Amino acid sequence: MDNLDYYSDHKYCPTCDKYVSYLMSIEQSFCTQCGSEVRLFSKDDWQEFNESMAAKRPKGGRPRKSERDSA
Ligand SMILES: [Zn+2]
Repeated sequence: MDNLDYYSDHKYCPTCDKYVSYLMSIEQSFCTQCGSEVRLFSKDDWQEFNESMAAKRPKGGRPRKSERDSA
């Protein structure tokens, strides 16, 4: 996928409001265009990422039906 390549070379700059190429320091990365701190994902993409991670996580057992149906 082209997208993965793109994301590995770019990070999201909230100031520019787009994915940009960036300068990496030890703890942070900075937009090459405006100098703001950039993040790995945009807010929306981050949410999507978290949701996809949560979906993969096992959810503690199978769903149970109520046992008091016949009472
Ligand atoms: Zn920027």
